[in-house]
Amino acid sequence: MPTSEAERVPGYPAVRFAVVDPATGEAFDEAPDQQPDELDAVVARAHRAWHGWRADPVARTAALHAAADAVEGAGDDLARLLTREQGKPLAESYAEVARTAARLRYFADLAPRTRRIADGRPVRSEIRWRPLGPVAAIVPWNFPLQLAAAKFAPALAAGNTVVLKPSPFTPLATRLLGSVLATVLPEDVLTVVTGREPLGARLASHPGIRHVTFTGSVSTGRAVAEAAAASLARVTLELGGNDAAVLLDDVEVDRIADRLFWAAFRNCGQVCMAVKRVYAPTRLHAEVVEALAQRAKTVAVGAGLDADTRLGPVNNAPHLARIEQVTQQALGDGARAAAGGHRLDGAGYFFAPTILTDVPPGSPVVTGEQFGPVLPVLPYRSLDEAVDAANSTGFGLGGSVWGTDLDRAEAVAERLECGTAWVNHHAELSLAQPFAGVKDSGVGVAGGPWGLYGNLRPFVVHRPQKG
Ligand code: NAD
Repeated sequence: MPTSEAERVPGYPAVRFAVVDPATGEAFDEAPDQQPDELDAVVARAHRAWHGWRADPVARTAALHAAADAVEGAGDDLARLLTREQGKPLAESYAEVARTAARLRYFADLAPRTRRIADGRPVRSEIRWRPLGPVAAIVPWNFPLQLAAAKFAPALAAGNTVVLKPSPFTPLATRLLGSVLATVLPEDVLTVVTGREPLGARLASHPGIRHVTFTGSVSTGRAVAEAAAASLARVTLELGGNDAAVLLDDVEVDRIADRLFWAAFRNCGQVCMAVKRVYAPTRLHAEVVEALAQRAKTVAVGAGLDADTRLGPVNNAPHLARIEQVTQQALGDGARAAAGGHRLDGAGYFFAPTILTDVPPGSPVVTGEQFGPVLPVLPYRSLDEAVDAANSTGFGLGGSVWGTDLDRAEAVAERLECGTAWVNHHAELSLAQPFAGVKDSGVGVAGGPWGLYGNLRPFVVHRPQKG
């Protein structure tokens, strides 16, 4: 999509950067490389637009429903472009577009509740809720559209305006989304800016921004928190995960193997709350490794636009290099690849779906976030040992427990130190639930009414009961 003169902030040259198709490794388009000081004008416009947008909640609800319709109407173009720049199979891109529209609809119908305080004083105290102002939304490349919507839908519903910055690896579908939404939202209520660093750093520290809502890695999250400290803007951080799946000794491996495999490998493992480590009782370990390896060896890997593909490429070259490095290190430390263990020959950023066994527990593929199609399966002797191991990393996003006795599995799930724990599945979320990580996995709460209130501030009015 070419950049028109009108889209650029006046006075700034049209610098652009290449966008690569991860299925070929070739650049296929470009995006505007907006410069940090262009943000002054963008944020100033978001501020001006805020005054009208915050004033009329009924018009907001209607506009956000229209936005959801517009997203669905552009579903084919959005999905194809998303697959092209992100790599995921087309069916997953369609699902992501549907989730983007669903988030708009969900938050369109959510409103904060005004509440009276009844504490016996002869005063009428009322809690009302006010929007914060322009919100900066900064998102990664793994689910560019739905993660953006998880930020802008509640922020807009609460009456804020939004400046949205996608990852430079996936700017195009988000730019298209921005222009689709511009047909139904008032001008400057949602602005998409694209560019390489330090654009994100400048946005996070911009004095006109009142809330920085960020999804990405732990290290960038720390930098964002530091940058936002300059203006004391509110910060919401949804960061990395290293979710463990603990299999109990009554688990039926055949019954759960498909679900477990896809909980780890969906979107090529590039999911914050993917299963990133499996703990299996010693007695079942070989059977679990075999069941997962058999699926890893036979799953259809290919370009996302090919109809048969179930697993696409890794999104970008530096990330492929990281996945390769962490896998090589594990193999060098004594691990064995029951499937895969290497990148695939040929063009594109493809890595063979990999199941690792005999992995030393201190290996970075266990302690860190591999964020790719590589899964270590570790044996355990006692349940306490498994729970301790599951809780032993710096992350705390999600976790799951798998077994036949559901009450027992739930009791083990209770012991996981994370924001969301599942029994016999993983990574399924409701729009109505809170989503929050503990430890290094995040600060603040997204999702459901909590996500709405995360974009509001309380405003309390006291007045006498009578004259
Ligand atoms: P990243 O941290 O490298 O980048 C995320 C975003 O921040 C991008 O838009 C990037 O351009 C921008 N950015 C980079 N440097 C910045 C800076 N100094 N200041 C402000 N913004 C900056 O993450 P990534 O590699 O794009 O995404 C993968 C990570 O995201 C993984 O760790 C994954 O677990 C995490 N993630 C978390 C969730 C969640 O909900 N908890 C969801 C999806 C992904």
